[in-house]
Amino acid sequence: MKVLTVCPYCGTGCGLNVLVENNRIVGVEADSSHPVSGGELCIKGYFGYKHLEDSRRLTTPLIKKNGKFVPTSWDEALGFIAQRLTDIKQQSGPDAFALFASARATNEENYVAQKFARAVIGTNNIDHCARL
Ligand code: SF4
Repeated sequence: MKVLTVCPYCGTGCGLNVLVENNRIVGVEADSSHPVSGGELCIKGYFGYKHLEDSRRLTTPLIKKNGKFVPTSWDEALGFIAQRLTDIKQQSGPDAFALFASARATNEENYVAQKFARAVIGTNNIDHCARL
């Protein structure tokens, strides 16, 4: 079965067909009629799907405790991050933070990231790898 979709690997948005057999992704083909990519994909588009079944893939959040990463729940991980951000902001001020966004994220995700930095953290220390 072929499933037409957009490559999730970066914000370019190339069109591809995911080849599925027995409920597993077994390959990728470029969508020749896609208006962005016109039948071309980069190496990440063609082969990035192989990370899905990599045994080293993280499947749960980790928190470092006593020098070792320990699996934890999303609730505990997000609560821990929120508390650390709050503590650092109180101790050192909002400009102790800098946010670096990524071209691998969509425009919408990058918008949310900069909004979080400005409106929640209170800093304008924001940059993006595409500016280099
Ligand atoms: S990772 Fe490559 S194939 Fe995928 S959207 Fe970006 S440029 Fe296109």
